[in-house]
Amino acid sequence: MNRLTGRQLLEAIEVLRDNKDKYNEFEYWQIYFIFRKEFYNSAAWILLSKEVREETPFCERCFRDNRILHAHHIKRLYTHTYLGLEKSNLEVLCILCHRKEHRKVA
Ligand SMILES: [Zn+2]
Ligand SMILES: [Zn+2]
Repeated sequence: MNRLTGRQLLEAIEVLRDNKDKYNEFEYWQIYFIFRKEFYNSAAWILLSKEVREETPFCERCFRDNRILHAHHIKRLYTHTYLGLEKSNLEVLCILCHRKEHRKVA
């Protein structure tokens, strides 16, 4: 199988979600996690994430610039998949603020 582009992976996640009733719970999440992993490895995501971190080279919560920075989806990838490559939906967070954020919403 050819590798899907970032945009195609987002579409694949939406199709999967629209067809949730066709899978058992285990299969469904297993497929979702594969698509999500592929998305985060896609050139589109890697470039966009790099771009926002270059534009905002510090954490937007704690303002530190000496930690590893991530691009975080403000509206979550799972619920707002169509915003997955939308720059305005991204926030730069340091690794610690990022972890805290996901613990909060999980
Ligand atoms: Zn921070
Ligand atoms: Zn995040």
